Amino acid sequence: MKPETLCIHGATDRTHTTGAVCPPIYQTATFAHPGVNQSTGYDYTRSQNPTREHLEQLLARLEGGVDALAFSSGMAAIAALMELFSPGDHIIASDDLYGGAIRLFDKISTKNGLRVRYADTSDLAAVEEAITDRTRAIYVETPSNPMMHVSDIGALRARIGGRDILLIADNTFLTPYYCRPLELGADIVTHSGTKYLGGHNDTLAGFLVTADAAMAERLRFLHKTTGACLSPFDSFLLTRGIKTLAIRMERAQHNAVLIANRLLSHPKVTAVHYVGLDSHPSLAVSKKQTSGFGAMISFETDSPETARGVLERVRLILYAESLGGAETLITYPLLQTHADVPEDRRVARGITDRLLRLSVGIEHVDDLIADLEQALA
Ligand SMILES: *Cc1c(COP(=O)(O)O)cnc(C)c1O
Repeated sequence: MKPETLCIHGATDRTHTTGAVCPPIYQTATFAHPGVNQSTGYDYTRSQNPTREHLEQLLARLEGGVDALAFSSGMAAIAALMELFSPGDHIIASDDLYGGAIRLFDKISTKNGLRVRYADTSDLAAVEEAITDRTRAIYVETPSNPMMHVSDIGALRARIGGRDILLIADNTFLTPYYCRPLELGADIVTHSGTKYLGGHNDTLAGFLVTADAAMAERLRFLHKTTGACLSPFDSFLLTRGIKTLAIRMERAQHNAVLIANRLLSHPKVTAVHYVGLDSHPSLAVSKKQTSGFGAMISFETDSPETARGVLERVRLILYAESLGGAETLITYPLLQTHADVPEDRRVARGITDRLLRLSVGIEHVDDLIADLEQALA
């Protein structure tokens, strides 16, 4: 089945007999046992719940995995993932990364004895240089947040070769509609389901997905043991959101291409970072590993005053954190997503007081362009 069809028909509900087209919300914490040492297959909702299972099957199929685990947020998923590692283990992470992941790695993983080294994972030589005999994972976000660097997942897999190193890819920005990292050689995919998968800016969710049965078992153990699993109602909302993933991604990307090109020629915009632009340095890698570019754009204005002015003046576009919903949102990474990143590292990565990030939504593009133009004027 094609992804568009999988989004709608990718999971079968094995529990209901009514013919309901949508999965029921099993709002229950626990399940009664038919007899001693017997189970219906469900014991307690932290371990499994039919509504969550429906969603997990759907995402596993979309990503080409054997199993997916739904968490209460993207950060809950990444925090549980870090429990795979032991004190002394070394992890290489993209040097341009969601700020919350940086905060987790620097403030919690490091305290727990992991060593995290940041490297430009779009540069294979830089990755090779960072690998030590204690390296156990390479964690990439592609394209990265907010500078849109693209890492070549297949080439990283080839570099790792037979070494005992997990390749982990955060697929939040592209979703399985445009990119399936497991098929390219990643071992584990992470998601903030809060973003495009949910798609309506109304629910937090996170996922881990893998194509390896033994790894799936390890992750399931961590999921039920650390406990931040997605509620039945939020699982229902995510399943509902994914039904329209394909058309939302298409429309958002269509809008993003037009907006990125318009920003490029704007006199107060000095740089535009969008993977779909012909000028993007990794266009060839993107074309090889993805079927689309997504709808995340960051751009630099001519002065901090212009950047702040845009945030004050936008009317239709909302000045808000997050991304991937129907509504177009604009953020100021300096004060929002990357506020906790030390200044020297922030500036070295290009996250300055002139950088704005746009999550392009599915409104009519003419209205979005008109709003941006009046805000930049
Ligand atoms: C938002 C985000 C996260 C964190 O997810 P939450 O659902 O907000 O906890 C992780 N990675 C990326 C790329 C994100 O955009």
